[in-house]
Amino acid sequence: MQHYRIAILGSGPAGCTAALYVARASLQPAMIKGLEPGGQLTTTTDVDNWPADEQGVQGPELMERFLRHATKYGGQEITDHIVDVDLTKRPFVLSGNQKYSCDALIIATGASAKYLGLPSEQQYKGKGVSACATCDGFFFRDQPVCVIGGGNTAVEEALYLANICSEVTLVHRRDEFRAEAIMMEKLFVQEQAGKIKIKRSFVLDEVIGDGKKVTGVRLRSVTDQNNTELDVHGVFIAIGHQPNTALFAGKLEMDEGYLITRAGRDGMSSATSCQGVFAAGDVHDHTYRQAVTSAASGCIAALDAVRYLRDND
Ligand code: FAD
Ligand code: NAP
Repeated sequence: MQHYRIAILGSGPAGCTAALYVARASLQPAMIKGLEPGGQLTTTTDVDNWPADEQGVQGPELMERFLRHATKYGGQEITDHIVDVDLTKRPFVLSGNQKYSCDALIIATGASAKYLGLPSEQQYKGKGVSACATCDGFFFRDQPVCVIGGGNTAVEEALYLANICSEVTLVHRRDEFRAEAIMMEKLFVQEQAGKIKIKRSFVLDEVIGDGKKVTGVRLRSVTDQNNTELDVHGVFIAIGHQPNTALFAGKLEMDEGYLITRAGRDGMSSATSCQGVFAAGDVHDHTYRQAVTSAASGCIAALDAVRYLRDND
């Protein structure tokens, strides 16, 4: 079994940044890349909010750069997906196709947006169907879009898009919204201003397109089964996110599946409930979920892990 001082699970912005910082502390990390080398951004096209790339950058290209930079100063990229971890004693043991042991672990396994599971939704992902208004809303400037969902995220996305798009329709499967009252108040202000339309008790039945891009949606009423069509160019699915933490169930403290980190003023803010295990990126962040915040927290976790080994070994 290969042993590493620090192992990093995940190769998105958080994992790559953690690897870069650990390598520059001369601790030769293992970065285990998982099934999606480069993470979520490899599934998108234009990334317009990566600081200092003022011309924008394609997601896959950005992540190629991240991956190259991650191991430039040493360390090892490993193509494997971890399916079991033993965190009961140090060194920790990670099991995938191979077994690995490590003195400290950084978890950067990200989170996955939930989708409805419609074939047409899958067909038009990245061609009009998106799960991130902050990321992709700009591409639908002055165009009609719809948002699916009834929680805080859906309302927040609709409010955000209302400043950019020509018309926003919020589609929710029930009459009652799950979103908080304060969010609903903001929503109703925009509804009255004519910027947002609300379709209650409708579900997305099919995304309609011309093969290359979205041209509309068909909605099905849940009360009378009637269909209605909307002309939209963007469809934002906002029905929640699923952090990739199944592996740690019963082993680390979580809140709704997100790893709990310590936060606070005295450093070690990325520490989880298990000493020597740190978390970075979307796997512990259900609020910001951006590439830049994930990369920043990868840096924090790396500095914490390096300090932990220095103070404890
Ligand atoms: P992820 O990028 O999710 O990476 C997780 C990594 O963990 C992957 O490499 C995966 O293979 C690995 N992994 C998972 N499980 C295991 C396991 N068991 N063993 C080993 N490895 C594992 N943000 C922006 O700032 N700007 C944008 O324009 C933007 N556009 C987006 C567009 C889309 C379509 C999506 C889905 C998201 C977008 N985001 C954008 C959000 C951004 O991608 C995420 O916030 C960011 O990727 C999170 O980084 P992360 O490193 O925490 O996790
Ligand atoms: P959420 O609260 O779980 O809401 C998900 C919404 O999507 C619900 O309205 C749900 O409908 C709907 N939905 C789920 N599956 C669906 C399906 N298959 N088809 C159609 N609709 C479906 O998720 P979230 O909105 O992402 O919020 C997650 C957490 O982050 C919450 O705790 C939220 O408060 C928090 N958050 C806070 C803020 C903020 O404070 N500004 C912003 C964003 C998120 P039902 O209501 O019918 O179940």
